[in-house]
Amino acid sequence: MLKVIIKIFDSILNFIYPNRCVFCQEIMAINEEDCICKYCYTDIDFICDDEEPKLSVFSYDEKTRYAIFRLKYDNQKQYAKVFAKMMYYKLLKIDISKYDYIIYVPMYIKKKKKRGYDQAEVIACELSKLCGIPIENNNLIRIKNTLPQSKVSFEKRSENVKDAFYVKNPSRINNKNILLIDDIYTTGNTINYCAKELKKAGANNICYFTLAKTIYKKDLENN
Ligand SMILES: [Zn+2]
Repeated sequence: MLKVIIKIFDSILNFIYPNRCVFCQEIMAINEEDCICKYCYTDIDFICDDEEPKLSVFSYDEKTRYAIFRLKYDNQKQYAKVFAKMMYYKLLKIDISKYDYIIYVPMYIKKKKKRGYDQAEVIACELSKLCGIPIENNNLIRIKNTLPQSKVSFEKRSENVKDAFYVKNPSRINNKNILLIDDIYTTGNTINYCAKELKKAGANNICYFTLAKTIYKKDLENN
């Protein structure tokens, strides 16, 4: 009986506040849980030719940039669930049994308090629920309140995140294989410094897994 009531309540809620496509805001049909419309599914530039240890779901273009922007700056925390599902579909194509932990590139604690959540953490938690790899929370810490990389020139991005991370409990990382999660891969400086700290703590293999990746012209020419 309770299940029926919850279902009716959900349907009413969905009627008043319908789910919308995370990319184009199109209203989704009731019970359409993926929250990506058919048009966007065909329009998104999914990355298919990448391999471990560097994986990304889609290219970081205008369309995906707006969706990630809304997750980060427009309080659309629920987008993380949709993005985590897209990441999970990618994991279905590889052998994940070797990974001991999911770790995410963490936000500076004061910034997280101001925003109310850390988007990489929320994505990582949702992904962990889907794929079953446990999340190693609050071990990799951001100790510097760095500027957003998008606000820093390419030349200064490495300096901006240098020495920004540390591992609180290295013994838990020693000899572990890690799936390192972040939302965007652009120059790779941020995730590289995280990996460096994890390696220092004794991590075995680290696979970068980002939601979106900037595809440079030279990458396209190489393909
Ligand atoms: Zn759409």
